[in-house]
Amino acid sequence: MKLNELIRKAANILDTPFLVLDLSYVDKNYDRLKKSISNVEIYYAVKANSHNEILELLNNKGSSFDAASIGEIKKLLSIGVDPKKISFGNTIKKEKDIKFAWENGIELFAVDSEMEVEKISKNAPGAKVYGRIETSSNDADWPLSNKFGTDVDHVISILEYAYRKELIPYGVSFHVGSQSYNKHKWKEAILNASEVFEKLAEKGIYLKLLNLGGGMPVQHVKPIPEVEEIGEVINESIKEYLGWVDGLRVFTEPGRSMVGNAGIMASRVLLRSRKGTKSWVYLDVGVFHGLMETIENFRYEVVVDKKENHEKMIMTLAGPSCDSVDTIYDEVELPVDIDYGDIVYFINTGAYTIEYASPHFNGITPPVVYTIKELEIEVEKYLSKNI
Ligand SMILES: *Cc1c(COP(=O)(O)O)cnc(C)c1O
Repeated sequence: MKLNELIRKAANILDTPFLVLDLSYVDKNYDRLKKSISNVEIYYAVKANSHNEILELLNNKGSSFDAASIGEIKKLLSIGVDPKKISFGNTIKKEKDIKFAWENGIELFAVDSEMEVEKISKNAPGAKVYGRIETSSNDADWPLSNKFGTDVDHVISILEYAYRKELIPYGVSFHVGSQSYNKHKWKEAILNASEVFEKLAEKGIYLKLLNLGGGMPVQHVKPIPEVEEIGEVINESIKEYLGWVDGLRVFTEPGRSMVGNAGIMASRVLLRSRKGTKSWVYLDVGVFHGLMETIENFRYEVVVDKKENHEKMIMTLAGPSCDSVDTIYDEVELPVDIDYGDIVYFINTGAYTIEYASPHFNGITPPVVYTIKELEIEVEKYLSKNI
């Protein structure tokens, strides 16, 4: 999302840090994705940003939801989401949460192990399950693979086991890794998924669901493939490998790509110092209060207000807490004259920022979240008090 006059004005007069969300981007992201993949059903991955207005907007647009926990499920139910439009996509669940979900009308659960099948068959008898296959997420900035999914043969045997346990083996899912730059990853994963469909069909078990997971990237500092390009690879791969499946349902679970470009984080410089030959800049936001992904060197575009075109040099950028892990970037280009009180923006930070922010580490509160409308009101309030 673009920095505009309102955001700059607000950052100059309001307390920082804050995260501003422009929901019109979410609206557009949804429509674009829906158009790019044939007959797709969108299951928004709530964990990327669970702001109520995002969930309500997507619910009104007809979206479904991928929930990671009972907390997310309860939040979705509380705003009136149809439980049939919720998938319990975490492969690691508590039995009582499975039971709660099932009793509240949720029918779809992810598995990647026999034990999870047993828990589901006991607490949600007759539920639909889909098996998650592993992918190599080496073209992605944020891995989601090692911990989840298993090999094709194992997924086949897990789904057969589910069948014997009187669950409905419903389909296959994968996740190519979050912020993936390689559109061909989806082709490779769909080919692997099709093997599960084929081998089970030979045994008389007919799957219905291909769940494409998330992984679509957001524009930061490197070029990214467009949604339409990824969609084209997906559409062709489905036609080629799964064209034979009757009544195939195709899900996608965007998190980052649905909300990432709908946010900007505004912060201030608290301190600048020199240590040996290194320049350090400390902000009022850091790793524990919204910029968690930077610990894996996830790169955001960093803009210093009013110094955009100044000469730059390499500095170290850190957060405010008493913890060395709270270092945002060991090396990042910043204006040579960056100084106390300067406003620093992190662009396209709508996903996986506020959700990760600790509510109390070091007694520091997370950034305040404003929608554009709320930000306008805050600025008005300030101006009417200060003329
Ligand atoms: C986190 C997650 C997603 C969202 O991934 P993005 O890369 O943010 O789009 C989708 N599906 C599952 C199962 C997830 O855990």
